[in-house]
Amino acid sequence: MKKQFFLVSLVILTVGISVSCKNNKVEAMNYDVEYKSLVEAFSKGESSYKDCNDFYQNIKEDKITDAISELSDRMNSINDSKNNYALGKEKYLQEQWVESYKFLSNVIAEDEENYNEAVEKKNEIMSTYINEAEVLALGYYYDEAIAKLEEIAPYSKDDSSVNEKLNEYNTKKDELVLYEGEVRNIFFHSLIVFPELAFDGDFMQKGYNYWMTTVSEYKKMLEQMYERDYILIDINMLYETEYADDKSVIKKKDLYLPKGKKPIILSLDDLNYYKYMEKDGFADRLVLDKDGNVATFTKLPDGGELVARDNDCVPITDVFVEEHPDFSYRGAKGVVAFTGYEGIMGYRTDLFDSPTFEEDFKTAKAIADRLKETGWRIASHSYGHINFQDKGITRVKKDTKQWNDEVIPIIGKTNLFIYPYGASVKKDDERFKELQKYGFEVFWGVGGRGATLRYADDFIIMDRCNLDGYKMHFGPKYLEDLFDIDYVYDKSRPKFE
Ligand SMILES: [Zn+2]
Repeated sequence: MKKQFFLVSLVILTVGISVSCKNNKVEAMNYDVEYKSLVEAFSKGESSYKDCNDFYQNIKEDKITDAISELSDRMNSINDSKNNYALGKEKYLQEQWVESYKFLSNVIAEDEENYNEAVEKKNEIMSTYINEAEVLALGYYYDEAIAKLEEIAPYSKDDSSVNEKLNEYNTKKDELVLYEGEVRNIFFHSLIVFPELAFDGDFMQKGYNYWMTTVSEYKKMLEQMYERDYILIDINMLYETEYADDKSVIKKKDLYLPKGKKPIILSLDDLNYYKYMEKDGFADRLVLDKDGNVATFTKLPDGGELVARDNDCVPITDVFVEEHPDFSYRGAKGVVAFTGYEGIMGYRTDLFDSPTFEEDFKTAKAIADRLKETGWRIASHSYGHINFQDKGITRVKKDTKQWNDEVIPIIGKTNLFIYPYGASVKKDDERFKELQKYGFEVFWGVGGRGATLRYADDFIIMDRCNLDGYKMHFGPKYLEDLFDIDYVYDKSRPKFE
């Protein structure tokens, strides 16, 4: 009996020990499996860090196996990743691209909830950066393109495209060459939008046919000059002003251009939208469109009205350069020259008593500001479009003062002067000295190929070539290197007399 009891007890004890041992194992295995599935759910965004971590904290220390420790590390990495993703997304929404990229780069593949989206956002940011840098580099803003990519480069080590682009831009920057050929100066007046109205047989027809260019001709000229490697440059690339003994001295500047490119300085005369042009097929005034771009306002022949980035040289050039950034060296566009006697840009800023004077003044000023921001420079074309060779000093004094008083407040200071009728005066002429008193330093006349460029200590003189009906008809040899006249020429022009 005793023996039996002992045996039974032994069996019970053995079973008990074995059961309790087995229970311990089961518990540990359950922790493992359950914790693992919690961490997996957390990774997928189906359970929270708190639930996961609470579970882990509740596991007694002596039950923590290597597998559980590993899972805990994984849980914490995923949590870091999720926090980085949240910050990256926040910065993304705030359009802080570099910051966003930086945080998104810390999102790991085990963070299943966010990884794909983080990669997608990173790629999107990277391609935005590369595209923006590419547009800058196309417009020869190499330093700016390099700086742009260098913002993001430290966080994109796993993406070789940034370094490839950086190398490319650095090489291109070193490839600029000293340009020693001629600099062409070309100019236009307001463009003819509706040839049927400009060439309607009235007494103005001949003048328009001679001195104006049509919209279609202008667009074709730009297209061909672009194809032939011409490039718009800013007048400031040709000179610099040094100050010595309180005197400014003008110095010729070396012109460095991308290899093979030929420089052009564009200027636009009389962008005033004079009264005489009304109803003759031109735009009516410059305006700012809803995006703040310089556009034209045109009354259409059918009575309608149109605001468009079209119908005159400024908006057409702006759009062309946006589409072909490599047609402009670092955003250069051209020089816009205004008289003042009928206001500027189609606004009667000369009529102080006009009920709309203040508004007109403000609008013209806003457009002038936008022009200057977008690569245009503004020049004087005298106040009354006077012929400097014909008028005496008294008239020149009055005219120059009036331009200074009425137009400068709208457009700001300028040192650029374009002679009306191309009628220039000599450097020791008192009328020239009068212009100099107002700070004019760069003077343009008209003539030949528009490639003369003369430097003196305190001024520069240049000629310009008119790309209009007159020149296409009477001086094609001056134009044929720029474009194919047969292709450009508007067939709606009347016969030349
Ligand atoms: Zn003029």
